[in-house]
Amino acid sequence: MTIRQLSKSIINQIAAGEIVERPASIVKELVENAIDASATRIGIVTAGGGKNLIRVTDDGRGIKENELILAISRHCTSKLSDNIYDIHALGFRGEALASIGSVSRLRLLSRAENAAIGAEILVSGGRIEGPRPAASNCGTTAEVCDLFYTTPARLKFMKTDRAEIIAVTDTIKRIAIAFPHIHFTLSGPDRNLTEFAATGIGPQAQTMRLAQILGKEFTDNTIELDAKRKGIRLTGFASIPSYNRGNSLQQFVYVNGRSIRDKMLSGAIKSAYSDVIARNRYSIIALFLEIDPTDIDINVHPAKSDVRFRDPHLVRGFVISSIRMALKQAGIRPTSTSTIAMLNAFQPHISPVASTYFSPPASLSDSYYRPSTASWIPETAYPTDRPIIAQSQTFKEHSIPVLQDMQILSADLMSAPIEITHTSTLYPLGTARAQIHQNYIVAQTKDSLIIVDQHAAHERLVYEALKQALYAKPLASQILLMPEIVELPEEDAGRLLEHTATLQKFGLFIKSFGPSAIAVQETPAMLGEVNAASLVQDLAEEIAEHETADGLKAMLDYIAATMACHSSIRSGRILKAEEMNALLRQMEEIPESGTCNHGRPTYIELKLADIERLFKRR
Ligand code: ADP
Ligand code: MG
Repeated sequence: MTIRQLSKSIINQIAAGEIVERPASIVKELVENAIDASATRIGIVTAGGGKNLIRVTDDGRGIKENELILAISRHCTSKLSDNIYDIHALGFRGEALASIGSVSRLRLLSRAENAAIGAEILVSGGRIEGPRPAASNCGTTAEVCDLFYTTPARLKFMKTDRAEIIAVTDTIKRIAIAFPHIHFTLSGPDRNLTEFAATGIGPQAQTMRLAQILGKEFTDNTIELDAKRKGIRLTGFASIPSYNRGNSLQQFVYVNGRSIRDKMLSGAIKSAYSDVIARNRYSIIALFLEIDPTDIDINVHPAKSDVRFRDPHLVRGFVISSIRMALKQAGIRPTSTSTIAMLNAFQPHISPVASTYFSPPASLSDSYYRPSTASWIPETAYPTDRPIIAQSQTFKEHSIPVLQDMQILSADLMSAPIEITHTSTLYPLGTARAQIHQNYIVAQTKDSLIIVDQHAAHERLVYEALKQALYAKPLASQILLMPEIVELPEEDAGRLLEHTATLQKFGLFIKSFGPSAIAVQETPAMLGEVNAASLVQDLAEEIAEHETADGLKAMLDYIAATMACHSSIRSGRILKAEEMNALLRQMEEIPESGTCNHGRPTYIELKLADIERLFKRR
């Protein structure tokens, strides 16, 4: 075929593929346009999850009739001078309206400041009608109907209306957080009315907007950030460690008012909390970075939610130290709760862990596993004649027995009475009496009640064993019947293969399988049945995150922790009585097991005396 220039409408459709992914991305572009036009009120209406209709109305400065045609033309913008790095508006590429118009029916109705009458222009699948005079309030209304009617294949990628509505709401919330002086209204036949009243300008207004969107719980359980370094300003709110979540969806990061998703910054947040939050939990945070626009490049992707920093190390270090400093200054506060008094009666058992990094091998073989540091381990060695419950899991030097090959027990077996044999002081964690919510082992000692978080405890045991494996003999592995082929980006595959030898020590055997895949041949036996793909992906991410930043020792620590996290004894697993007791006995052997990998207790103890006090018997 001969080479020819593509038609305008095809060029627009190609561009639209990158900008207009789903209704939420259109809403983002239109709302950003309204903000750039200095609007103080923005109304968003959707129907059919945004697929049938999206209408964004603002009271901004409007568009002159003779500029309407430019507004919907590609590469036409009022926001950029000649310097692509000198960006002060949310938009600058001049392609959103042209792209939207190429994949939907777009109507742009506007009345500019000082204009006597408004005007409108219609674009339908790239064909233009107008501009022509039309009645309008001051400001602009952009109306998008029948999204993707020109490219029906794209419609198939849409999720359910409900899912698209959620994505639109999420987009608005993300934007609204950064602009508390703007009044936002979200409405339409497909949703309940949501309104964020303007709260003004300044820190107080920012707090109020965050409370509107994330709830008062957020502002009550976060500490304020305000720091400056080398011309970068960081403000915002970061959660106290005990107020956390299972995913990062409540981490809001802004650079010059623009909501961005950036791996380096989310890694920095994670690092800032690494000592105080479990590694599978996430802080809740709203972070606003103000930085000279010429020190960043926002023109990485048409969606403008990626950013490159001229000096990423400076930014990373600044974010980590600002958050750490604020946490330190605030001290650790408990989550606000009405049951604090009750919780205080429970004593978390946090044994002193010298360092999150490895002890050198000498100290390992010497005293590392001597239980003398733990308050509850008797000074004398374990008696060999103690009743061993799980006969098969005796403790060997440099190998930690773990619960493997466990069978899920039926509920009635679980409720069978358990004979109390371990309430003597020899067993500080007592006898397992029950398992509740499929994750908590309730045990009874001579004078207390103990609740163990089985997942956290097991994770810690596996973690300790993995760390030990680096200095002793490699951990046992389990050969997979069929090697599992895991596809990964080329860099990730390369990174993992660089660490093949270390991973083998942990019992993970991998091999190159073409440029962007890896064959997993054996997995660490102590993890039980693992999802090899997700283990390998997580490891690649950890290595990428830490290989340059934190040095080898820390990286190995992260690898061990990531592997431990994949252990199959997760919450939700029903344990037999003897399995529970075996876990308790293993915990007693390992002093570090009193805390999970990041300092949370793995068990709590309520003394009988305190129980009596709670019931006012004392
Ligand atoms: P960009 O925002 O990157 O400039 P768009 O395609 O989104 O590109 O918009 C093109 C131009 O149309 C903008 O530069 C702006 O001048 C004008 N425009 C778009 N939406 C509005 C609005 N709501 N109010 C005022 N002007 C607008
Ligand atoms: Mg725009």
